[in-house]
Amino acid sequence: MKQWEQYFRKVVPYVPGEQPNKPGMIKLNTNENPYPPSPEVKKAMEEFKMDQLRLYPDPSSTVLTEALGEVYGLKNEQIFVGVGSDDVLATAFLTFFNSTEPILFPDITYSFYEVWAALYNIPFETIPLNEDFTIRKEDYYRKNGGIVIANPNAPTSLNLGLDAVRDILEHNRESVVIVDEAYVEFGGETALPLLKEFENLLIVQTFSKAYSMAGIRIGYAFGAPSLIKALNDVKYSYNSYTMNQPSLCYGAEAVRDQKYHKEILDRIMKTRTWAAESLRGLGFTILDSKTNFFFASHREVPAEVIFNELRKKDIYVRYFKKPGIDNFLRITIGTDEEMKAFIDAVSDIIKEQKAF
Ligand SMILES: *Cc1c(COP(=O)(O)O)cnc(C)c1O
Repeated sequence: MKQWEQYFRKVVPYVPGEQPNKPGMIKLNTNENPYPPSPEVKKAMEEFKMDQLRLYPDPSSTVLTEALGEVYGLKNEQIFVGVGSDDVLATAFLTFFNSTEPILFPDITYSFYEVWAALYNIPFETIPLNEDFTIRKEDYYRKNGGIVIANPNAPTSLNLGLDAVRDILEHNRESVVIVDEAYVEFGGETALPLLKEFENLLIVQTFSKAYSMAGIRIGYAFGAPSLIKALNDVKYSYNSYTMNQPSLCYGAEAVRDQKYHKEILDRIMKTRTWAAESLRGLGFTILDSKTNFFFASHREVPAEVIFNELRKKDIYVRYFKKPGIDNFLRITIGTDEEMKAFIDAVSDIIKEQKAF
């Protein structure tokens, strides 16, 4: 080991889902939206003046926060934006979690939480989910340095009711509670109505899933002005210009086109209904998804086998080799055509494996 290497920050990084790029593949592994972004975004792209790129972007991202504020009924001082919700969440961890008490989050949830906690030396404790993968709210009624709940949770796809979220907030008036709503538009319940009551609540959402813009990297947070100011102070302490000019402009267009937004959500939820039925018919247990993915386990064929067999056919889903969930697949809901092809392939695999 080189002398200086002892001073490196040692981290075990988060592993994102693979991004294969094969013609004809069916990609259901990273919860991307199968439909294109709003046509208003396309128009904005065509009209974007390249000369704007000479200038630094507005460091306060006003065009985007104003559009979000109009649509979600909030003031600019209640909105923070970042380079995907990963950036927003990482900034929130760095900003809010400086207690010596551990922060709390479920043992089965978005695995990035643990990575940020380790990166920033934040003590943390993971709380086991119930057997049925639900969150037990009472487990969060204890001393802590902060709480993070993904709602709906990933990769379980389950929603925690608004009353339970309120109860967790009621019992944690001394901590910042982050609710990560990456999937909330697909049938979950947003904590937005609780913002008026709780100054310690930070809601984080993203353009990556419901707005079909994973590639542009926009995430945002809603919270009391005191929380948003604290986030901005930290942001301005390491990079004032996180948001580039085109994404500010395209993001504003996407969020203003709520009609299109609702249309594609509706389409995905319809696909979810029939696809869940078909998969259950093939012998899968599917949790009650309020997201754009299924968390599914087959009664006879191991998840890892199905995962590998699908991969051979250039169909990609997500498999986590992790105790407690290692017999489950996380399957993103694609278009009707993609789901039909996926279900046909899975049906063949199951038949082959059972004959084996
Ligand atoms: C996808 C996802 C995110 C991150 O999304 P970004 O693309 O960084 O906005 C955050 N939390 C959860 C639970 C997610 O599934």
